[in-house]
Amino acid sequence: MKKTYKYRIYTNREVLGKAERWLFLCRRLYNTALEQRITIYRQNKGSISCYSQINQLPDLKAGFPEYREVGSQVLQDVLERLDRAYKAFFRRVKNGNGKVGFPRFKGRDRYDSFKLKQAGWKLDGKYLSIRNVGRFKLKLSRQIAGDIKTATIRREATGKWYVCFSCDDVPARVLEKSTNSIGIDVGIKSFLVDSEGNKVDSPKYLRQSEKLLRRRQRRLCRRVKGSNGRRQARVLVAKTHEKVKNQRNDFLHKVANQYISQYGVIFIEDLNIKGMVRNHHLSKSIADSSWSKFFELLNWKAEEAAREVIRIPRFEPSSKICSECGAVNQELKLSDRQWVCQACGVLHDRDFNAAINIARVGQTLQEQTYAVTQSVF
Ligand SMILES: [Zn+2]
Repeated sequence: MKKTYKYRIYTNREVLGKAERWLFLCRRLYNTALEQRITIYRQNKGSISCYSQINQLPDLKAGFPEYREVGSQVLQDVLERLDRAYKAFFRRVKNGNGKVGFPRFKGRDRYDSFKLKQAGWKLDGKYLSIRNVGRFKLKLSRQIAGDIKTATIRREATGKWYVCFSCDDVPARVLEKSTNSIGIDVGIKSFLVDSEGNKVDSPKYLRQSEKLLRRRQRRLCRRVKGSNGRRQARVLVAKTHEKVKNQRNDFLHKVANQYISQYGVIFIEDLNIKGMVRNHHLSKSIADSSWSKFFELLNWKAEEAAREVIRIPRFEPSSKICSECGAVNQELKLSDRQWVCQACGVLHDRDFNAAINIARVGQTLQEQTYAVTQSVF
């Protein structure tokens, strides 16, 4: 199993200066390589491969000796990154996907990481040493497992530095086997409701920071471009953004862990269904990104712990079906928090009813799959 571990890193001003310099050199290489590709295309409609660009690195080092201090694999990765941006661009053109942006030249604030592969660095306990840069101290919040394949050094918009270790062969977490299953409905009012009637709301501190973020984003929009006030406002937005992101991640991890540890099978609804949802506390984009992040975490953690997360394909909007008698309430509006089934008279909480339906469809699907497997063997 693959896994990425992220840690904050600290060091002194001199080492940071060198890391900044690497970012600068990588960005300049990226922009130069992009320019080369564009020029070759303009001159004779030709193209140059990533491979040939990598083969030109020794010439680059000869012409610009400052590049000798940067690890070769780091420079290779810059060119591979550009290549990925190109391929993604042509893929989107081919598929005709929405707005298609051509790979852009990177401005000072738009290039914020470099990737170390096998050589030129060492992790020793909580110290990370990078050749020609220096030593960083890690805030080791949890132990790394598996084999480290790459280490990416990143400067976030807040000015804080992080390292991300991307690992292979991370062993699965052993949990006691569980045959319990549950359905989860991501809610309109609550963050989620499950088929046993538990509601989970996003914590108050998170909602407050989200509100603060939106206020600061609006203020940033009002500032004049290029002004000092705008620069300050942007830093403030970045800091708040990071805070919200961390708080939200903590919350999502906690909720996901709770479900993974208790249930063997978790049924979730396909997220598209929620396209039109409006939430009282959250803007739509925040809510959407929280849900997709939550499902992503559930999937990872399930894989890690040999649990199952099953996505229920889109069916007759689950909230409109009465979980008692199966009648469909076509009159149900998005704003109806509760409703009474006209067929059987049961009073429903909208989200709880939907969660029950999700669990039920999931269990039926599972039984069918089971029956098919039984008949085959
Ligand atoms: Zn009913």
